[in-house]
Amino acid sequence: MPKLTPSRRQYLEFKHQFPDAIVMFRLGDFYEMFDDDAETASRELDLVLTGRPVSKGERVPMCGVPHHAVEGYIARLVEKGYHVAVIEQVGSEPVNGLTPREVSRVITPGTVIEPGMLADDRHNYLLALAPEPDRRGTGWAAVGLAYVDISTGEFAAAQLDSDDASMGVVEELARLEPREVLLPAGWVERGVTLPDSIHLTPLPDYRYEHGFARQALLDHFEVSTLAGFGLQDKPLAVRAAGAILVYLQETQRGTLHQLTSLRSYSTHSFMTLDAATRRNLELSETIRERSKRGSLLGVLDHTVTPMGGRLLRSWIGQPLLDRERLEGRLDAVEALYGSGTARAAVREALRQVSDLERLVNRLLARRTGPRELLALADSLGAVPELREIIAGAGALDPVADALDPCPDMVELITSAIADDPPATLNTTGVIRPGYSAELDKVLDASRGARDWVANLEPAERERTGIKSLKVGFNKVFGYYLEVSKANTERVPDDYIRKQTLVNAERYITPELKEYEALILNAEERQLEIEERVFREVCDQVAARSAALLRTARALAHLDVFASLAEVAAREGYVRPALSEDDVLDIRDGRHPVVEKMLHGERFVPNDTHFDEDERLHIITGPNMSGKSTIIRQVALIVLMAQIGSFIPAREATIGLADRIFTRIGAQDEIHAGQSTFMVEMVELALILAHATRRSLIILDEIGRGTSTYDGMAIARAVVEYLHNNPRLGSRVLFATHYHELTELANILPGVENYNVAVAEEGDDVVFLHRLMPGGADRSYGIHVAQLAGIPKAVVNRAAEILEELEAAGGDFTLPQRDQPDGPVQLTFFQADPDPVIDALQSIQIDEMSPLDAITKLYELKRMIEK
Ligand code: ADP
Repeated sequence: MPKLTPSRRQYLEFKHQFPDAIVMFRLGDFYEMFDDDAETASRELDLVLTGRPVSKGERVPMCGVPHHAVEGYIARLVEKGYHVAVIEQVGSEPVNGLTPREVSRVITPGTVIEPGMLADDRHNYLLALAPEPDRRGTGWAAVGLAYVDISTGEFAAAQLDSDDASMGVVEELARLEPREVLLPAGWVERGVTLPDSIHLTPLPDYRYEHGFARQALLDHFEVSTLAGFGLQDKPLAVRAAGAILVYLQETQRGTLHQLTSLRSYSTHSFMTLDAATRRNLELSETIRERSKRGSLLGVLDHTVTPMGGRLLRSWIGQPLLDRERLEGRLDAVEALYGSGTARAAVREALRQVSDLERLVNRLLARRTGPRELLALADSLGAVPELREIIAGAGALDPVADALDPCPDMVELITSAIADDPPATLNTTGVIRPGYSAELDKVLDASRGARDWVANLEPAERERTGIKSLKVGFNKVFGYYLEVSKANTERVPDDYIRKQTLVNAERYITPELKEYEALILNAEERQLEIEERVFREVCDQVAARSAALLRTARALAHLDVFASLAEVAAREGYVRPALSEDDVLDIRDGRHPVVEKMLHGERFVPNDTHFDEDERLHIITGPNMSGKSTIIRQVALIVLMAQIGSFIPAREATIGLADRIFTRIGAQDEIHAGQSTFMVEMVELALILAHATRRSLIILDEIGRGTSTYDGMAIARAVVEYLHNNPRLGSRVLFATHYHELTELANILPGVENYNVAVAEEGDDVVFLHRLMPGGADRSYGIHVAQLAGIPKAVVNRAAEILEELEAAGGDFTLPQRDQPDGPVQLTFFQADPDPVIDALQSIQIDEMSPLDAITKLYELKRMIEK
């Protein structure tokens, strides 16, 4: 084999360590990639593919990116799910002809800390799963789960023991939306499906071994037992947390100071929200546009700091079950709600605060620049005022107590760092003159030389009589004197020609070079001292990280409380009364999002009441009357109360719900390979299996995905089951346009009928959006057709048909299938089949686009004319 060049051998050693990452190898001013990596990168990043000789007669593919732009390229690769290992040159002197190099970091989707690669308003979670196989070895009997956000230092672990461990995992994935999930390679091979947005990283199975994982955690936290973290009886949680920690040690390379503690949690202390419910209720993004605007978060988020934004987002994802904690949050919101001036002052002061949480974590990871350090001081500068504003408010004492203005740190930073420092340490001017005697001495010594150079231009113009003579500097030649071609004859003898340009010549003089050496040496010294002094300052500040992080988290809480108080004041929300019972009593409740979408129209508030005897509401009413709105509004109000927010109502008592279930009719859910009806039934099965008496269930138009009679039959059976099963007795809101279901209230004592009222004015229907006791007797579908602009002739004809139908069919009892002599809704069709009516009957208006509807209408018209 031909002899490889030394740097090729060095490269291959690194590549051997990181076979699964794209290795970026620093060569001078570039980061180069080779072989397959080069091909991947040139494809993904649109880079020109070149080659590099690696031995006599052999070249390998290569492509590179300039060092100053590397972050952007790394970000793009990581965004696409690649891992990137960055190899740096260390020192400037080659050793035995080869520049020493080392791995500076490995960046993966879940381990990013660069601000440019992170979204401010959300966490960037890395999650590890440690599954325990069930007896058959195919499913999970239990699972350990740990997650970390290294940009903020949050680190938590849980163990899901029950038989529905994998369901719990799905819910946690929906809540946390991690960027990257670590899983034992053995499980990955068996095939695990995760949402597309999640990057799956397999790890060797031994990394999940309990002893190994436990030891890694003990070593990192410098403790002798994990009991302090509440993990003593949770071996799977330990395995997941240990796997994460070791993975971070490998990728981050530096110390992991920012991971100061590990929190164990139980999914039982939070309200459970499955992925479908999060989506259906549009908690943090809308279903259609996937935007925050139009979601609950969009309405509630008036936070002014990125930390507050992230905290509010995680609260909405994780409502509480603990009444005391909720009352504490509500007290804090109330304190700020009560005083508009305090609230405005708090929010104003918070605007000065940057992302302190991430700043401190970057500081601990030794990745802070001069400007970030100043931002940290500025943020702390707001703390004394904030403490003053909230002092004595009682409910905000815990926040005030955690706020530490660290005045000595502010003093240190502002005295050490110059006012408008460069972004990086590659440029001088970071440290404020007067802070370091050593630095000042170097600057003083070179000042004479600088003054001399500064003076050179006028002096030489004078001496030579060349008015256009200029003194300049560039990286290649250093300082030079530039004379235009026209004047070169007048150049004195001591000028030495260095470079010829189109219109000018450049010269140096021996004296100029002497001064230049003085200046450049001083500059090099200056850079070196500034870097050292800067690091010292950073280390001193980092030593206070615990207080700084506590302050950051308190600021985030204050921001969220102020935000919730602000929205309560703007939108007229009230504080809910919380109860441990399963009551639910909402007076004049409103839908927090829909009420903001009505341009000029008034939102009609409605009451909702559940108690011992009234467990299940069947809500009927024509399409567009407001059924979906009212049932979603109840779910959102309960959820808001359980994050500690005020709610859109006149008053309310909320019995805390352990879980909110939703089954919302076929919208635009296109699930690969599954019919909407199948999806609907799967979700329904989940509800029936997991609901408890404390749950709140909202069902919208279930049974719609199949034929009318199947659908109605299923809907009825579900209502009976929810009502009769002793384990259930949940609070249920069931919106349906099958007004035949209203009969159930006569048979089942816990069932009550409500309808969303409409008024008839002559031929017109006016939607009142008001919920009334009793069932709707008609569906008014024909009137909706008219409103939608269907031609009068068709509407009138439909009304005629309806009348005939009603006359023939008598009352609309629930028809039973396969019972030829049963209730006779169908007799009309049987007696006198009419193709137009058949066609009309089979139309699924709700599933048609306006264009389909028009086409269908033309078709019907043609049939009639025939
Ligand atoms: P349904 O589920 O009965 O078809 P929706 O709940 O989707 O009806 O409501 C249709 C529209 O009616 C909503 O988009 C909203 O504009 C309006 N609406 C619903 N409820 C109210 C209300 N309480 N007050 C005012 N407008 C409402």
